[in-house]
Amino acid sequence: MKREKSVHPKADALYINKLNKIKVLGLIRETGPVSRANIVKVSGLSAPTVTRIVDGLIHDEKLVVEVGMGSSSGGRPPLLIKFNGEQNYVIGIDLGATFTRGALSNLDGKFIKEIRIPTRLESGFNAIMEDLSDLINRLSIGNTRVRKQRIFGVGIAVAGLINKRENLVEYSPDFDWYNVDILIALEKSIEFPVIFDNVTRLMALGELSYGAGQKLQNFICVNVGYGIGAGIIVDGKLLMGADGFAGEFGHITVETDSDIQCSCKKYGCLEALASGRAIALTARSRLARGQSSLLVELCEGDVDKVTAKMVADAARNGDELARNVFYRAMEYIGIGISNLANIFNPELVTIGGGVSLAGDIFFDNIRKSVDKNIMQPTSRKVEILPVAFGENAALMGAFALILHRVLNLDI
Ligand SMILES: [Zn+2]
Repeated sequence: MKREKSVHPKADALYINKLNKIKVLGLIRETGPVSRANIVKVSGLSAPTVTRIVDGLIHDEKLVVEVGMGSSSGGRPPLLIKFNGEQNYVIGIDLGATFTRGALSNLDGKFIKEIRIPTRLESGFNAIMEDLSDLINRLSIGNTRVRKQRIFGVGIAVAGLINKRENLVEYSPDFDWYNVDILIALEKSIEFPVIFDNVTRLMALGELSYGAGQKLQNFICVNVGYGIGAGIIVDGKLLMGADGFAGEFGHITVETDSDIQCSCKKYGCLEALASGRAIALTARSRLARGQSSLLVELCEGDVDKVTAKMVADAARNGDELARNVFYRAMEYIGIGISNLANIFNPELVTIGGGVSLAGDIFFDNIRKSVDKNIMQPTSRKVEILPVAFGENAALMGAFALILHRVLNLDI
């Protein structure tokens, strides 16, 4: 077969050069501290090419540093290099409906400064964006060690359906937002590049870049909080889907004759039956029917104040109503995870989000349900663990958004 001749040989050479540089940078981050000779071996590139690329990464982009001598089996010990995560920075935002957390971190994920502010949910989108830009500016100034030019961007984790094609938050039930444009809202006041994505997907990206992903290539990160979602990592890559909606795990139907309507308007969704909000609502409706329970004490008689955490606490203390409600929700989540495991064959499922903070009572019941519902006997045993970074999972994911931009030399 005759190969088509390239129309722009020079452009091609530049492109290949950039791809090689991305490859070398990625290898240095994954394997460092490492010698240039090892990079030559692993990358398959020639020694002069690797030397030229590494020199550029050290002196021009300042993304790689020399870290001293390695050991030698004879001859001159090799000079080792590693990714310069320590002197390059990122700002991450976890935009929650109650609180917004912002953090300045280095590219290794080490926090330098953190600010937490209440989210003015009732004041609407524009007010929240004003607070956000103020927060970002406060994080970026006043650090003598951190040069502003070395802050590579702002990553934002937001709950809701993100339309990646249009770069819009298409719908966020937590904020009651429809088609809002975060980038336009922040453009005028923020001098850094801003990228945002769905909070659950970012938890998975954070796990991929800083946690389980350093060892595993196939895993799923599930978020069980006010809503339910999943970030799915297949062969080391975050699954996006055609429009960027992949991972709307909360909206799989788990009960066909349910009369509980979900925020997405369907009936019988996992989220409508097992999210933190669903657990609280189910317990409230049973209490309203007059069933006796420890919960009456915990909510001081005000049934509308019952939360998922109270239900977990009462269940742990043996309360029957709370156990029924909580265990049933965990069973549904286990059914959902079994389905995910049957389709994607992950090595690990990590779970984060507010409801997962209930601990053993949460994980034990989900594991029981997964064992019961997963395809047997061919399916491997799926490990189910809490997310690596606990309450910082969303922030780590926001950092990872910018880290990926840097590693792709999109800077
Ligand atoms: Zn739904």
